[in-house]
Amino acid sequence: MLTRADALNDAHARPAPVGAGIVVEEVTKHYGRRKALDDVSLAVPQGSVLALLGPNGAGKTTLVRVLTTLIRPDRGRALVGGYDVVAEAAMVRRSIGLVGQHAAVDEYLTGRENLALVARLLRMGRAETRQQASAALETFGLTDVADAPAATYSGGLRRRLDIAVTLLAKPAVMFLDEPTTGLDPASRRDVWTLVERLVADGTTILLTTQYLEEADRLADTVAVIDHGRLIATGTPDELKARLGGDTVQIRLADAATPHEAAKTLHTTMAIDAVEHNDGTIEMRVPEGAALLPEALRQLDSHGFAVTAAEVRRPVLDDVFLALTGERPLSGTGHPDQAPDPRRWTHSHGARSH
Ligand code: ATP
Repeated sequence: MLTRADALNDAHARPAPVGAGIVVEEVTKHYGRRKALDDVSLAVPQGSVLALLGPNGAGKTTLVRVLTTLIRPDRGRALVGGYDVVAEAAMVRRSIGLVGQHAAVDEYLTGRENLALVARLLRMGRAETRQQASAALETFGLTDVADAPAATYSGGLRRRLDIAVTLLAKPAVMFLDEPTTGLDPASRRDVWTLVERLVADGTTILLTTQYLEEADRLADTVAVIDHGRLIATGTPDELKARLGGDTVQIRLADAATPHEAAKTLHTTMAIDAVEHNDGTIEMRVPEGAALLPEALRQLDSHGFAVTAAEVRRPVLDDVFLALTGERPLSGTGHPDQAPDPRRWTHSHGARSH
């Protein structure tokens, strides 16, 4: 893992070129004979969030290790903050922050001491160190525990301190490797808020996660990786749209009328609706929210009373199942309901590699 000393060994970091995010071009990496990354290309524009999503062993951490200069790619090229990860590794290190799955704070020091230590390593003067440490404690909601040893912190507090410490160096690009794994739901949401704040300030973020809801909430772009290969890239909405759009469900007041209602929609709007015995009709359309008002108007003008209507968008879980044949154990993609961080089942039979 990238040590603090690596990240901090130059307090006079040249600011990264404006507009510099992350560019990965045809990167391949083997561990012995095992191919951990296979011809991966992607781009993260400055000030945006890319979520790298995939099951255990997919290659997420390997890509983070390449991009944080901890290992070299066998083939291909990657730029971080405008610098080449091999030829300009030192400059990359000065531009980045890395928050891993295991908090890198010193357990024996208090939160304030951890921040002060890093501020001093960054060659801040005494007054600035005090001021920066207090400001960070305040920003990250750590004031109450500021003078307790980090060893006594909960997982969520520790992760917050870890992020606070990493941010002292004002990195242009942040790598968050499963930043919410093992955290309780409230702490997870705290981390999400922090990420959103960072992005608003122009930081570029590459986030690895196994939580689909996390990717959905935070990412501008989602890259799905499986067995070292990038198998899909797009916005969360684009990926969902590939599944064929939304489901619109309409419940009729008279449970005996779905057949006639479906016929009406077919005649007036050329929509094929499926009728159900429970008095509902259901249709698959590209843009449910755009279609629903007109469908309700047509039903109303043809004498059908409607008691409920809903538009359901596919969730990222559906995308995964379609892409990889693997689905999270919970089947919900909702981290609140999935305390076990190792959430994927593997069913390799569906694919060939
Ligand atoms: P996880 O979610 O479990 O962290 P991941 O997507 O980050 O998984 P990687 O850790 O990048 O996956 O691993 C990709 C592949 O490379 C896996 O098959 C893994 O077993 C293998 N691998 C990772 N690190 C090493 C190593 N140091 N030596 C040998 N093989 C490795």
